[in-house]
Amino acid sequence: MRFMSIASGSSGNCIYVGSDKTHLLIDTGISKKRVEEGLKQAELTGNDIDAILVTHEHSDHIKGLGVFLRKYQVPVYSAAETLEEIKKTSSIGKLPEELLIPINSQKKFSIGDLQILPIETSHDAIHPLCYRVDDGKSSAAVVTDLGEYDEKLINKLLHLDGLLIESNHDVRMLQTGPYPYYLKQRILGQKGHLSNESCGKLLNYLLHDQMKEIFLGHLSDKNNLKELASLSVKTEIDEGFCQYKSDDFPIHIAKRQMPSKLVNI
Ligand SMILES: [Zn+2]
Ligand SMILES: [Zn+2]
Repeated sequence: MRFMSIASGSSGNCIYVGSDKTHLLIDTGISKKRVEEGLKQAELTGNDIDAILVTHEHSDHIKGLGVFLRKYQVPVYSAAETLEEIKKTSSIGKLPEELLIPINSQKKFSIGDLQILPIETSHDAIHPLCYRVDDGKSSAAVVTDLGEYDEKLINKLLHLDGLLIESNHDVRMLQTGPYPYYLKQRILGQKGHLSNESCGKLLNYLLHDQMKEIFLGHLSDKNNLKELASLSVKTEIDEGFCQYKSDDFPIHIAKRQMPSKLVNI
């Protein structure tokens, strides 16, 4: 499989995952133009996309969905409640009803030669999910927008080959930063976002010999820095309980405004 972040961060999210035959986007929270530019780096166009998996209805995940769908008519999969919320979001315009496909969040499903496992997350949206994608040879997951993690989530993320994981904020930067009190509480809460430290702690459970590529994603614009995210996560791995050191794995930062490199896993 191949895997790339087209954009990742509080200002917009769109991740590409695909095999030779099947091409998926996870979320379309950036403009159609930026999705097209990102896909070009994978030598793909919007016409190659077989489906869009939507994690949840927050605007940084769905902003570009309407324009993209009206041009490319791609089926959109998400929880039924999420699709209802998206339909009510007037800013993205009218969506072709027949393209919206509700999924059972407890069950695996297939698109082309890819198996998709939805995973429920703890976040302040109506039915937030993240996704694990498998082609029988390798698997990748995109895990962002979660305030906390539990054993159930960890068990669904074992033996991955590629992972994009949320490293949203530095707790001290957030606490002393410009956000209003209620927003700070929301981000720090159980239904908020993973801090750099929590991200590193979660990685202790997920690292294994076959892990090939790790991206830290959904970095906050105001409450994080690339270097700080990277350093905090690596410290948690180096000082954590797992048997690995952070330099055993390539750990990249998925940028807000620029596509990452396309990686093979
Ligand atoms: Zn988000
Ligand atoms: Zn969100």
